[in-house]
Amino acid sequence: MFVRCLTCFACGNSYPKDVLINLCECGKPLRVDYDLEQVGKALKRSGSASRGHDLWRYRELLPLPKGVEPDSLGEGGTPLLSADALAQRLGLPAGTLWVKDEALNPTGSFKARGMAVAVPMAKHLGAKKLAVPSAGNAGGAMSAYAARAGLEAHVFLPRDVPVANRIECEIFGARVTLVDGLINECARMVQERKEAEGWFDVSTLKEPFRVEGKKTMGYEIAEQLGWVLPDVILYPTGGGTGLIGMDKAFEEMEALEWIGPKRPRMVSVQAEGCAPIVRAFDQGLHEAPPIEHATTIAAGLRVPGAIGDFIMLDILRKTGGCAVAVPDRELIAAASEMGATTGVCASPEGGASLAALRRLVATGWVKPGERIVLFNTGSGTKSIEALAGAMA
Ligand SMILES: *Cc1c(COP(=O)(O)O)cnc(C)c1O
Ligand SMILES: [Zn+2]
Repeated sequence: MFVRCLTCFACGNSYPKDVLINLCECGKPLRVDYDLEQVGKALKRSGSASRGHDLWRYRELLPLPKGVEPDSLGEGGTPLLSADALAQRLGLPAGTLWVKDEALNPTGSFKARGMAVAVPMAKHLGAKKLAVPSAGNAGGAMSAYAARAGLEAHVFLPRDVPVANRIECEIFGARVTLVDGLINECARMVQERKEAEGWFDVSTLKEPFRVEGKKTMGYEIAEQLGWVLPDVILYPTGGGTGLIGMDKAFEEMEALEWIGPKRPRMVSVQAEGCAPIVRAFDQGLHEAPPIEHATTIAAGLRVPGAIGDFIMLDILRKTGGCAVAVPDRELIAAASEMGATTGVCASPEGGASLAALRRLVATGWVKPGERIVLFNTGSGTKSIEALAGAMA
């Protein structure tokens, strides 16, 4: 309701706020810019406290115009759980480690946050049919919100996607196409067919509003920690909407004077078999060339190339963060360790963030006493084959 315009993350070109649009002319993602002075008058830091727990408590910082009600499924408002038993196993003091449990979102992953904003915005701006390439959870979330909004959903998934991801899309009435290849191949099919079919493409960062939904994780962490951000955030990274969204949230909060200038060191966690961001970070590159023959059991991390690569790499560097790759056996073992010590139904991706933390504690990059947030980005029940294989 306080959106000023859309601005290109790369070239700075700006676009009007009320058009259905994918990328900038230059081919890079668009960012939603707000009139934060007006937001600051309408919403105080303490003001959201009296509202519901879903992400719409930050309504003034979301793009839906006044009077346009979202077709909500109760997304966001997930718990930030203390993890003292886990901290102790890592040699960290009590009261310094938390797990943000995104498994509790509708459709069992934080993809719900992005789609909860992107789908109603696409509908508001005139889209009737939506299409998305997905490594797993994005397809289910888009299908659910499209069903709720009464829009047609077309989902393109790798043929070997976890069964739960395919079935949920079908439950929500989406048309599912299984593709020989990974998410980049799925994306190519959407790209080729969307014009003829009249589909609006809601691929990661190819429309501006999924990031807006995901940024609410940043607002929630700040609010849940009494408006003092943690020292380190570990985030299992695929397309990077969460990393980019949280950074955007922190910038907005600073402009609103809800927080000071200090930022968490952001850590991008990937699987060894598919770690384009880690490789580019280590090589000092500003873009991440795609990985050939990418392979990992963590479906959400099976993203060989990301259009927001340059934004992520910039965030890691400017916050003094880093990027860590962990092997599949380690991330799967860490998922059960997280589950057994916290009660969170950890996904392989959530396990990856714990495995990365253990490595960073071992090298001294993370010091005892620093305040750390780990992300469990989805529910382990959606990756049942991967986890069952490891338990057998
Ligand atoms: C999509 C996904 C990720 C990666 O999220 P991005 O914001 O695209 O980087 C991590 N974990 C799970 C479970 C996912 O579904
Ligand atoms: Zn541009």
